[in-house]
Amino acid sequence: MAKKRRSKKSQKQMKKIISLILGLIVVVAVGFFGVESGIIGGESSLVPLVDDEHAFSLHVIDMGQGDSLLLSKDGKYALIDAGETMSPGERESREAIFAYLDSLGVKKLEFLLLTHQDYDHIGSAIDVLKRYDVGVVYDNGVEHTSKTYENLMTYLAEEDVSYKVVRDGDFISSPWSGVSIEVLSPPEDLIYKGKKADVNENSIVLKVTYGETTYLLTGDAETEAEEYILSTYADIDADLLKAGHHGSSSSSTYDFLRAVTPDVILISCGADNDYGHPHIEPLENFAKFTTADKIFRTDIDGDVVVTTDGTEYSVAVRNAPHDASKILISGNGVKV
Ligand SMILES: [Zn+2]
Repeated sequence: MAKKRRSKKSQKQMKKIISLILGLIVVVAVGFFGVESGIIGGESSLVPLVDDEHAFSLHVIDMGQGDSLLLSKDGKYALIDAGETMSPGERESREAIFAYLDSLGVKKLEFLLLTHQDYDHIGSAIDVLKRYDVGVVYDNGVEHTSKTYENLMTYLAEEDVSYKVVRDGDFISSPWSGVSIEVLSPPEDLIYKGKKADVNENSIVLKVTYGETTYLLTGDAETEAEEYILSTYADIDADLLKAGHHGSSSSSTYDFLRAVTPDVILISCGADNDYGHPHIEPLENFAKFTTADKIFRTDIDGDVVVTTDGTEYSVAVRNAPHDASKILISGNGVKV
């Protein structure tokens, strides 16, 4: 049966209109029912606004300076990165990730995908593997000599955990019907800076699609990876972008954003972090493509959950906010 499809642009326009209408409905509902839920910029519980039993959710867990993203649908879960902040011995990120997964009753992870080898992305990986039943671990296979990565590789071998390397053009075996998970980067011939394959630039970049909704998840990919993706793929249009490298100026070029044209932008970074993430340049670039109420930062907004039924999507936050005034004073950038 032929179904008339709107153009991408008009679909986007329509989505924005739907978001606004839903936002208004929610504002009325909150006033009427006293329910703490919201859409795009609202504060909320975890009640998804897209109320579909088969809805697909992306959870950006507020775990400090690092990344840990949970995907969920139909009672099945998968984790992208399990970082730990660089503060030695504190283990706060691990506790935040555990608390979040436990609050949802997660026992099993269909897969754990590690975008790259930095501590703020893999520092809690062994703990996650010990605590949850993990189906398969994916990474980019880049050689790395950190103790954390070597320990992880040893653990995978000793415990006989299923492990696969993925590169550009691969698809992650999806545990959810209707959800496609495509790897856009790194290239088979990795991105080198000098003689070494660059750790950030070779982050696994994922295009996750459910129905008409697309999420682009970029790990810590920087400008060279963005250029590679731009030159390799004709269509990287996405509704939602998880900004590369915690909102660093090393990522999120204007040209890349122009191709992605994101409606919602997510930034995972720690409150008052040592790197000044997110930087001003990407925040200014983001403002050219979306509005301030659709830019979410874990340092300010806490955990961020995007839920879609494949057509519409909603954003909810919880455990917000951290002390925003402190963040502004410390010069970590402003919510443009
Ligand atoms: Zn990072």
